[in-house]
Amino acid sequence: MLKKLLIANRGEIAVRIVRACAEAGIRSVAVYTEPDRYALHVKRADEAWSLGADPLAGYLDPQRLVNLALETGCDAIHPGYGFLSENAQFARLCEEHGIIFVGPRSDVIHKMGDKTQARDAMRAAGVPVTPGSEGNLTDLEEALQLAASIGYPVMLKATSGGGGRGIRRCDSADELKMQYPRVISEATKAFGSADVFLEKCIVNPRHIEVQILADSHGHVVHLFERDCSIQRRNQKLIEIAPSPQLTPEQRNYIGGLAVKAAAAVGYENAGTVEFLLSGNEVYFMEMNTRVQVEHTITEQITGVDIVREQLRIAAGLPLSYRQEDIQYRGFALQFRINAEDPKNDFLPSFGRITHYYAPGGPGVRVDTAIYTGYDIPPYYDSMCLKLVVWALTWDEVIARGQRALADMRLHGIKTTASYYQQILQHPDFNRGHFHTGFVPEHPELLQYSDKKHPSEIALAVAAAIAAHVS
Ligand code: ADP
Ligand code: ADP
Ligand code: MG
Repeated sequence: MLKKLLIANRGEIAVRIVRACAEAGIRSVAVYTEPDRYALHVKRADEAWSLGADPLAGYLDPQRLVNLALETGCDAIHPGYGFLSENAQFARLCEEHGIIFVGPRSDVIHKMGDKTQARDAMRAAGVPVTPGSEGNLTDLEEALQLAASIGYPVMLKATSGGGGRGIRRCDSADELKMQYPRVISEATKAFGSADVFLEKCIVNPRHIEVQILADSHGHVVHLFERDCSIQRRNQKLIEIAPSPQLTPEQRNYIGGLAVKAAAAVGYENAGTVEFLLSGNEVYFMEMNTRVQVEHTITEQITGVDIVREQLRIAAGLPLSYRQEDIQYRGFALQFRINAEDPKNDFLPSFGRITHYYAPGGPGVRVDTAIYTGYDIPPYYDSMCLKLVVWALTWDEVIARGQRALADMRLHGIKTTASYYQQILQHPDFNRGHFHTGFVPEHPELLQYSDKKHPSEIALAVAAAIAAHVS
């Protein structure tokens, strides 16, 4: 097994990896920039090293991180998600310096990080791909011709895009003309590449993704799917495992496709193959070559510790499971509690957490790096807590989600928690019928998103009475 691991990340995922290290007997090394001096991952790791004053530069400096790993005697680096996790150069630098990168080989990251190369590889492997470009677009003229032949609406996408950015829907040639330069400029600014491509827009699809694990001995397994259709602006809000809207046949088929996709590119470690589903049609969308924010719900339904498997695979050990060993039980939901104001166009709401009370009880898991008194710095992701609930049936998991959201206290900042309580009450969600258009189609749910839960009101009343008596 690995001996000492540098965690090139921060926040809840860094804490998650520290926990996996502690259980596996691996010494953990945290890194931090100045605004993160009092962050939980710094407190919880076995060692912590400063990367300087700049909030971001240190976390994004491959050479510095590799040097630090060498100086502190680490044999491996875990990149988490975001930051350098899908940076092929970083993985290559690790390879060159004899540091194990916990993820796939750098050439595989490079290929799958480029959405057009990934599409080409999948087509060649016989995995159905969203109809559209082969290679990148050369100019607007080509885009217009291609769009006319596949039919509107189309999606214009940044080839190196991620995190829901660099994607525009175009319903007509006029819109495509307008969006083309915009997506190019956004792609250049956000991802450092002007490459764009075009694919058919699948109207109101479901986002279904499959978790896979692959070791260095040629074994690939899948851990079933997650339904991430509850999104806003192409970013996931609530994730569900397994999808309540797949038949067993569809589940087997799509799991098999994901294994085929991973095997075709010689994938190693944990990864996610994302698909769009429309009726009975399945289209490959992209592959994420890292641990995903929502890996938690797959852990809850399968009992597999995905981060532990990542560390084992990186150490060269074979997978702990064969496909037939992996079963799922019940349903799990993950709520991304973001420091944002749902009543105010999801404006970020950073600042001090004046009071935090963690929800608990049966079937509840919280992955977070916040605590009472913690100041959420404005430089990073607005996601401040992942609330995960598990139960045996769909109805029970919704009730448990409601209960856990109501249990939680998170004061000092605005969050998306109360908005999720409204979503859970919607009849379509209750019936397990939703697609990626659910959030934009239900703006009315935002209206109640600052409504206090009855138990919160009861507490306030109790406090008022107590104050009156004393
Ligand atoms: P997941 O697919 O695991 O749900 P997200 O898409 O929410 O992950 O991304 C996780 C984090 O990684 C977010 O902070 C997001 O902004 C960041 N991210 C993802 N892809 C990229 C990318 N290509 N470039 C920069 N940041 C990215
Ligand atoms: P990212 O790398 O940012 O995660 P994806 O390619 O995975 O980008 O797309 C993010 C989301 O955008 C999807 O989950 C889906 O909701 C929407 N989307 C992307 N491509 C299409 C498409 N061709 N048709 C319809 N929706 C799409
Ligand atoms: Mg995606």
